Amino acid sequence: MRRRSQRLPCSDFEVLDGPIFKRLSRGTPILKMQPSLDKSRPSGHGRPMAFESFMEIALDEARKATSRGEVPVGAVLVGPDRQVLAHAGNRTRELSDPTAHAEMLVIREGTVALACERLLGCDLYVTLEPCAMCAAAIAAARVARLYYGASDPKSGGVAHGARIFSHPQSHHSPEVYDGIAGAEAATLLREFFEIRR
Ligand SMILES: [Zn+2]
Repeated sequence: MRRRSQRLPCSDFEVLDGPIFKRLSRGTPILKMQPSLDKSRPSGHGRPMAFESFMEIALDEARKATSRGEVPVGAVLVGPDRQVLAHAGNRTRELSDPTAHAEMLVIREGTVALACERLLGCDLYVTLEPCAMCAAAIAAARVARLYYGASDPKSGGVAHGARIFSHPQSHHSPEVYDGIAGAEAATLLREFFEIRR
């Protein structure tokens, strides 16, 4: 596929734009790696180890959300330099804010940290398939890559429902990788809702 290179405001990073949808095999296992390890590895080997580490942080945020009585979804935003810009879990109940999904919180914090409304070159890791609202925000923020865990046929907006990134009105489509630590993320959600039945 031919990819269009585009330079956008308030960044020195060259990004690739266009309808790119990639898939890893479902149920890709998560490994216990530290983010610092990938700095010592040659380029080309760092990313797979890094995304596994960052999803572990997202899972930890999901567990913390459970302890607050929130739906256990966690997210991490990683900058172009591979440093964590923000990590958060759902806080809709705590903030009385239906938009306070984990993805929205890390996008807001990340744009403030970068002093830019666009997150060029950034990666977003989230334990659950983003809903349509969050997927639209991810597109608006020009997030480069989206990694998510469990799929969400009921409320997801990436592979289900609105399929925001495939929609003709979408201005930007990140690379999408699904199924990363999906079993762990799904177990957290299942246990949360079983307790509340
Ligand atoms: Zn959402």
